Amino acid sequence: MAAAPPPSHAFGSSSGLPTTGGQRVPVLLPMPFAGPFDYKAPASMALQPGDIVTVPLGNRRETGVVWDASSTLPPDLARPPSGKTVADNRLRAVADRLELPPLNAELRRFVDWVAAYTLSPPGMVLAMTLRLHMKGAAPTPATGWVAQPVAPAELRITPARQKVLTLMQDDTPRTTTDIASAAGVSAGVVKGLADAGALRPVLLEPERPFAQPDPMHQPPVLEGAQQEAATALRQSVQNRCFSVTLLEGVTGSGKTEIYLEAIAACLEQGQQALILLPEIALSAQWMDRFARRFGVRPAVWHSEIGQKARRLTWLGAADGSARVVVGARSALFLPFCNPGLIIVDEEHESLFKQEEGVIYNARDMAVVRGRLAGFPVVVVSATPSLETLANAEAGRYQRLVLPTRHGGASLPQTHLLDMREAPPPRGLFLSPKLVEDIAETLAREEQAMLFLNRRGYAPLTLCRTCGHRMECPHCTAWLVEHRNRHVLTCHYCDHTEPMPPVCPSCKSEHSLTAIGPGIERITEEARQLFPDARILVMSSDTLGGPAATAEAVAKIARREVDLIIGTQIVAKGWHFPHLTLVGIVDADLGLGGADLRAGERTIQLLHQVAGRAGRASAPGRVILQSFSPEHPVMQALLSGNFDAFMEQEAEQRRPGFWPPYGRLAALIISADTPQAADEAAAQFGRMAPYGEGIQVLGPAPAPLAVLRGRHRRRLLLRTWRNIAVQPILHRWLGMVQLSRHVRVEVDIDPVSFL
Ligand code: ADP
Ligand code: ZN
Ligand code: ZN
Repeated sequence: MAAAPPPSHAFGSSSGLPTTGGQRVPVLLPMPFAGPFDYKAPASMALQPGDIVTVPLGNRRETGVVWDASSTLPPDLARPPSGKTVADNRLRAVADRLELPPLNAELRRFVDWVAAYTLSPPGMVLAMTLRLHMKGAAPTPATGWVAQPVAPAELRITPARQKVLTLMQDDTPRTTTDIASAAGVSAGVVKGLADAGALRPVLLEPERPFAQPDPMHQPPVLEGAQQEAATALRQSVQNRCFSVTLLEGVTGSGKTEIYLEAIAACLEQGQQALILLPEIALSAQWMDRFARRFGVRPAVWHSEIGQKARRLTWLGAADGSARVVVGARSALFLPFCNPGLIIVDEEHESLFKQEEGVIYNARDMAVVRGRLAGFPVVVVSATPSLETLANAEAGRYQRLVLPTRHGGASLPQTHLLDMREAPPPRGLFLSPKLVEDIAETLAREEQAMLFLNRRGYAPLTLCRTCGHRMECPHCTAWLVEHRNRHVLTCHYCDHTEPMPPVCPSCKSEHSLTAIGPGIERITEEARQLFPDARILVMSSDTLGGPAATAEAVAKIARREVDLIIGTQIVAKGWHFPHLTLVGIVDADLGLGGADLRAGERTIQLLHQVAGRAGRASAPGRVILQSFSPEHPVMQALLSGNFDAFMEQEAEQRRPGFWPPYGRLAALIISADTPQAADEAAAQFGRMAPYGEGIQVLGPAPAPLAVLRGRHRRRLLLRTWRNIAVQPILHRWLGMVQLSRHVRVEVDIDPVSFL
C-alpha cells in the first residue's frame, strides 16, 4: 500500500452528479487505495465524472479521474463499503482540470469491474488506462515559429542565432524544440530571437498521426467456408450489440483474412476496432498484411513503443482518429471513444494473462468490455482453449469453423519418432531418422526447422564426482548454462554467475557436466551435422528486439536461410512459404509437472509450431521426437484430431469441477522466511471457507518454493461454477491478520501454478 495518508476517506460516499463548481467530487487516483477520495470542485470549475484532473495528495500533486458517485457493480462483485465521510470543510480542492478527453462511462465501469473481479485496487486498474505521462499529453494547438521577412535592425547576431536564422530561411513553421534540435542550439536561443522580434509565432496544424485505413483498399476473394464465416462476422459487427464469436480453423485456413473483413465492416460503419495479439513485438508480418488489406498501417500499442507513440495512440483512441489499434494485452485499457469490435487472436495463449500487478486475463476481460459497452468480440485460434470451447458448447459463444487450408495447401503430415527405439548417439539429441530427413530437405533446397522450447545450452549443470547441482541462490531452480556468454543464469530471477572453474562443492576439476539440451546445444549439434547449411537461431537471446525479429523473418522468407532453430518465438503465426520440415526436438517437454493444462498447452504449442510447415504449395512434414509416443497428446498430434483430445480433457476436468466446469482462485503467500510463510499459510488454512460446492486445497509449498529470495506457499479455492469466488475471498482475506512482511497475491482463474 502507498504510504501517503489519504486526504479523506469516503469510498462511494458522494452524492449527485456534479455539473457546476463548488461540489464534492470523488477522484480516483492511479494508486493502490481502496477507492476514490473526495475533493471539492473549485467554484469556477464544473466537473463531470471522467474528467482528468490534478489534485493535492499529502504535499504532492497527483493526476486522477473524477469518478462516479455510486457503484454500478453487480452485488456479487461489489466491495463492502468502507470508511467514513470527511466533513465538507476539511475537503481539499481539485487543483486543475487537464485538457484531455474525459474517460467515458463505459470505460469507468470497466475499470471498476476489472478491479472487483480481480480483487485489485481500482486505482491500479485505472493506472493501466492512464499509462502515459498526463501533463503535456494534450495536443496543445502548438505554436510554431517562422522568421520575420526582415530582421529587426538592432538584432544582435551571435553564431548560435545565425544558425537559427539560416535554418529558418525556408519559411517552414517549426516548434521551439524542433528548431533547437535542427539548428543545434538551446531553446533559449530560439526564445531570445522570438523576444527580439526576429521570429513570428504561427499556429501549427494539429498532428494527424493516423492515416485512415480504407476498407475497400484490397478486399480478398473468399471461397466457400471463408465466405460464410466472413458474412457471419460482418453481420455481428453490423448488429452493434454484444456477442462473442469463436473463429476456429487449422493454421493457414484464412482466419486472419476473415477477421480483417470484420474489421472492414467496423470501419465502414465508422467505429474503431482493437486487435489483441499475444506478442505484438513479434508482429512485423501481421502489420504488412494489414497494410496490404487496408492501405495503411494501424496504430500500435505495447510496452516498447516509446513515450511519443504512446501519447499519440492514447489520444487517437480517445478522439477516434486511431481507427484501428493493434496491441498487446494492455491495449484493452485504452480509452476508445467509439469501439465497435475487439479481436483476440490466438486466444488460447497464456501470454494474455498478466501475472503481476493487476492479475487479469485480457481475453476474458475483452469479453467483459464488449458486454459492458455493447459490441462484438471475436476470439480466434487453431486450437481454442477448453474455456472457450465450453462457452461455445453452452451456446454462449457462436462458433465459426474453417475446416481446410486455403488454396488447397495440405496440412503437414505428422510422424512420431520413438526415442526409445531410435535414440541419438550418446550425448546428442537428434535421432538418425530426423537427421536424414533434414539432410534430404536441404538437398531439395527447401527449408527445415528445429524447435526446442528451451533457451541456453543446457538446463542443468551437474558435478559428475559429487552430484552437486548448480542452483540459483534466490530461487528453487536450476541455473541454465548459456555457453555463448560463459555464464549460468536463472530464468526466473535473471541471477547470473560465471561458469565456475571447479565444482563449488567438491572442488573437482573438469567435473561439471551439461545435462540435457537447450537451443544452443542443438545448434552446436546441427552445425556439426550440416556444416554447409545456413543456420538461423531464433530465440529471445539471439534476436534483440522487434526490428531484429522482423529482419530474421524477412531473411527466411527471402530464402537466405536453410535451417531455422528456434524456441517458442517460431510458433508465432509466421508465414514461411519455403519451410517444409519441422522437427520437434523434445515433444514431451511441458508434459511434466502438476499443471492442470499441461496437456492442453503442449498440444496448442506443438500444433502451432507444426503449422509453420507446408503453408505454400510444397507439402509439409512434422517429426516429433518423443519418449512417450503413446501419450494422448502425442496420439492427438499424430491423428490431428484436436476435438477428440479436448473432449477427453473435458471428461477429466468435469467430475472434479476443474475449470471450465468450476471456478479457481489461487492465494500465493510469500515471506522473507520459511517460518513466516508457513505461519501465514497455516492461518489461511485454519480460516478456509467451506460449504457445499466450496473446497480449499493446500496450503502447500509452491513448486517455485523460493522465488527471488521469498518463500512461497499456495492455497487453491475451487468452487462450483455457479458460486462467485469474490465475496468468499473478501471474507477470507478479512479474517487473517498478516504481519507486515507477508504478502498475499490473489490470482483469479489462475493459468500458472508455479
Ligand atoms: P490463419 O490465420 O488461419 O493461419 P491466414 O489468414 O494467415 O490463415 O491465411 C493463410 C495464407 O493464405 C495467407 O498467406 C493468406 O494471405 C492466404 N489466404 C487465405 N485466404 C485467402 C483468400 N481468400 N485469398 C487469398 N489469399 C488467402
Ligand atoms: Zn562436485
Ligand atoms: Zn533465481
